[in-house]
Amino acid sequence: MVLDGEAGNAFLAMRPPGHHAERERSMGFCLFGTVAIAALHALEARGLSRVAIVDFDVHHGNGTQDILWDEPRIRFFSSHEMPLFPGSGAENERGAHGQITNIPLPAQSTGTLYRQKLDQIILPALDEFEPELILLSAGFDAHKGDPLANLNWEEGDFIYATAKLCEAAQKHCQGRLVSALEGGYNLSTLGGLVCSHVGTLQEHSA
Ligand SMILES: [Zn+2]
Repeated sequence: MVLDGEAGNAFLAMRPPGHHAERERSMGFCLFGTVAIAALHALEARGLSRVAIVDFDVHHGNGTQDILWDEPRIRFFSSHEMPLFPGSGAENERGAHGQITNIPLPAQSTGTLYRQKLDQIILPALDEFEPELILLSAGFDAHKGDPLANLNWEEGDFIYATAKLCEAAQKHCQGRLVSALEGGYNLSTLGGLVCSHVGTLQEHSA
């Protein structure tokens, strides 16, 4: 619907998540690499030539990286706490064409550090790449209250990231952005975080 202009952007409230599922195996609660499959579908079935994926789940998107390792038409960015499950995601893992950017974040760091990485690394790279569609692996487990990780992001940090990525989509691809739920394991905060994420998407929906 987003590619057909029937929706400005979209959010997929789905479980299980997908970004840990590799080419040959499921892992980390994930059965299929949903966002990687969506990006490949956009290329192969819908004729796009450049798709960007931004993964701000607190864990490394190892499955997305594995599936897209040799795919130069898809630019993949993953920010994640390191060290943490699944153990991969070092800066020197760059894909066969240098199209993958891993941004490790230290335990206990706040959203301020992520905002800097977004502004200084991801957004300029999106400007250079000029994607025709942006996909988000939207995990909310970097929140300070999440039991499976140790970053200290606040709700405002997720809103900041969402808004900046929507602005990048407006700049490069008529606002075309699709966000898919990944992790988020504190059920008392997940709903509110997702609601503010969707609200920010709606504010930017043409
Ligand atoms: Zn996660």
